[in-house]
Amino acid sequence: MKSQNEKYPAVYIDRDGTINVEAGYISHPDNFALYPFAAHAIRLFNIKQFYVFIVTNQTGLAKGYFDRKTLNNIHKKMTTSLKKSGAIIDKIYVCPHDKNSMIKKYRKDCNCRKPKAGLILKSFMDYTNIDRDNIYMLGDKLSDMDISKHIKFRKTILVKTGYGLSTIEKIKINNINSITIVENLLYAALEILK
Ligand SMILES: [Mg+2]
Ligand SMILES: [Zn+2]
Repeated sequence: MKSQNEKYPAVYIDRDGTINVEAGYISHPDNFALYPFAAHAIRLFNIKQFYVFIVTNQTGLAKGYFDRKTLNNIHKKMTTSLKKSGAIIDKIYVCPHDKNSMIKKYRKDCNCRKPKAGLILKSFMDYTNIDRDNIYMLGDKLSDMDISKHIKFRKTILVKTGYGLSTIEKIKINNINSITIVENLLYAALEILK
């Protein structure tokens, strides 16, 4: 358990392509597969008393490819499977929006769709004892890396899984050099905790 009187580091982890195998719009739990190293990586953060958050754009909601109940079932599969291996996610933050959505409640030019910082800012409201000088962002896309334009992360780490390899090409083109590149989520954990 964490104390309210102490501050704790936090890691923000993208979902698709970082924790689970990238498979386009995942609209059923059967299409959701954790990477085999995901639980190990998250457990390492748990042991070091990090807050572990998932931050994910799920535009499939706005597009009507799946509903909130299905997403909850997918996330239940994820957290149950992780928990069996002793790995705990503190909270999952989802952006369901798309400014062109046919579904009114999701039609919004929101401030939480990555690379915007809304999901991270929400976690600061929910957990006031985050040590904001010790926060880390992990993901496979530029939209994950670019949150660092709004939020000061201790480290921003790109994994080579998911869209990682094509993101590396974009990073080279854009001459971004503030990003650490690692093989996968487990290597990211080792890099942060070394
Ligand atoms: Mg991703
Ligand atoms: Zn949003």
